[in-house]
Amino acid sequence: MSAAKVGFIGLGMMGVPMVRNLLRAGFPVQGFDLDAAAMAQFADDTGFSAAASAGQVAQDCPVLILMLPDSRIVDQLLWGEGGLGAHLQPGQLLIDMGSSDPVHSRDNAARLAEQGVPFVDAPVSGGVKRARDGSLSIMIGGEAVAVEQAMPIFQAMGKTLVHVGAAGAGHAVKALNNYVSASGLLAACEALVAAEKFGIDPHLVNQVFNASTGKNNTTEHKVENFMLNEAFNSGFALALMRKDLQTAQGFIERMGTAGGFAAQCLQTWSQAEVGLERGADHTAMFKFLREQQ
Ligand code: NAD
Repeated sequence: MSAAKVGFIGLGMMGVPMVRNLLRAGFPVQGFDLDAAAMAQFADDTGFSAAASAGQVAQDCPVLILMLPDSRIVDQLLWGEGGLGAHLQPGQLLIDMGSSDPVHSRDNAARLAEQGVPFVDAPVSGGVKRARDGSLSIMIGGEAVAVEQAMPIFQAMGKTLVHVGAAGAGHAVKALNNYVSASGLLAACEALVAAEKFGIDPHLVNQVFNASTGKNNTTEHKVENFMLNEAFNSGFALALMRKDLQTAQGFIERMGTAGGFAAQCLQTWSQAEVGLERGADHTAMFKFLREQQ
């Protein structure tokens, strides 16, 4: 039996490599992005067809994946004027793989359930590099039956697939993961900038961190590859990281649990977003802090 056609909306930094892995695994993909150039990248790929609109994707595909910047855009696409949410049919499956807001996702799941349409949130971690090699970490929220149905699709794009709870739970875990990641990046950058000012070679400092208890994802994968070489091109925008932090901070506030550090972390990331050029990569936080002296 041939694999079901997958509709994929949002062909950006992450969407493109994720679609390539779906095609490699034998899924026919119909894609759509507001930016026509994004779709043109697949001109030579058999198995890929470009759609004229998001509505067309929703009409043609039993499974729909969204890989969009944020919940505002997802909600607009689903429920805004001419939105596709109301036209989805029972038996279709909607999967939101972007880093959306868990509260919005829970609402979207409830609204779609009334139409007999299952919703799964399945945000990813690992960045562009792991999107390319198909080894993303995918945190999944939703009803077991729908999650089971989506598993072969997730297996084509990711390695660690964890069903963390009901709809919205995946997006909650993703936002919290990025809070932990963003705070680790901030701590590493502040430490490196101070050490550098004292006259210590930051390459050596990072080397020591990586052999000591200060090691984290930033010291291991970002400091040498994107920061000290001033490339600042990891492929994950600073504005998206700030958005994730805001989601996490709002989520913690809603839970009424301790969150003073998250609030402070968000404040620095927001300042960096204003201080750096539009479209800056999240690794440019290092540049921002260096220039604060
Ligand atoms: P991106 O900005 O590169 O891509 C988003 C794409 O969505 C763009 O091509 C844009 O044209 C398209 N788009 C926007 N509105 C649209 C609409 N209404 N209809 C159709 N297309 C539309 O972003 P990205 O880096 O690929 O990130 C996508 C999501 O994944 C975000 O939620 C982000 O937080 C998350 N994420 C990103 C990374 C990363 O390393 N870049 C890692 C993990 C998670």
